[in-house]
Amino acid sequence: MDGTTPPPAAAPLIVIRDVSRRYLRGVDEIHALEHVSLTIPAGHFVALMGPSGSGKSTLLNLVSGIDRPSGGEVLVAGQRLNDLSEDELARWRARHVGLIFQFFNLIPVLSARDNVGLPLLLTALDKAERLRRAETALRVVGLEGRLDHYPRTLSGGEQQRVAIARAIVTDPDLIVADEPTGDLDARNAEATLDLLRQLKQHFGKTIVMVTHDPRGLRFVDEAYHLDKGVLLTGEEALRAGEAIRLAAGGTGAPR
Ligand code: ADP
Repeated sequence: MDGTTPPPAAAPLIVIRDVSRRYLRGVDEIHALEHVSLTIPAGHFVALMGPSGSGKSTLLNLVSGIDRPSGGEVLVAGQRLNDLSEDELARWRARHVGLIFQFFNLIPVLSARDNVGLPLLLTALDKAERLRRAETALRVVGLEGRLDHYPRTLSGGEQQRVAIARAIVTDPDLIVADEPTGDLDARNAEATLDLLRQLKQHFGKTIVMVTHDPRGLRFVDEAYHLDKGVLLTGEEALRAGEAIRLAAGGTGAPR
């Protein structure tokens, strides 16, 4: 929806095949996801939308290898995540996935540079190289002037950019973002969405974002709508997208 045409027949980075996720709550079985199938090509920026409780976070947790399906299969970057043990999944995640959260999740007692370097502690890189890569990631997000700043001395928008730098420092294939604009004002929300789009355009990253923010629709290649654990398709999906645009006073309409 941003005017750039993805290359034809881009290879899928994510294949979700007939995935269900059920939770037991007491004697009740909660159907968080029901037979969801979805293919996301490499280098696409996609949004997962839907009302609270519709299964968005559950789906995000499955593609990022934080959780496993009760049924069906999840393939990401050529790996069938169902086949991995907990330890293997953690190692796989450290190599392939960058995580971005609504409330940034920065460590208050560490500088921007040290926060960004944290995921590299799981690698064999020495300290000098970790710091060099952290600085490069902070430069990518436009914060080369804030290397030694602590989170409390940064604005919300800057803190989210530090968190984005931390998500890209390991050069992951996939970036998953859970409500990344939920705690930001309008200007910083737009800047964050634009930065995510740039990571796609300039570095070929695949980005999956859970959002309620209708502004997101202007930045993504596709928006998927969930309702009660089911992925909407066809007319229902079109209607859900239209409802979000209308509720936002038309601000979500494609450019
Ligand atoms: P969303 O992100 O769209 O708000 P979630 O994926 O968080 O929705 O949740 C979908 C459904 O699954 C909800 O009914 C939620 O209460 C339930 N759920 C999510 N995680 C758990 C869990 N760990 N245990 C029990 N129920 C859960």
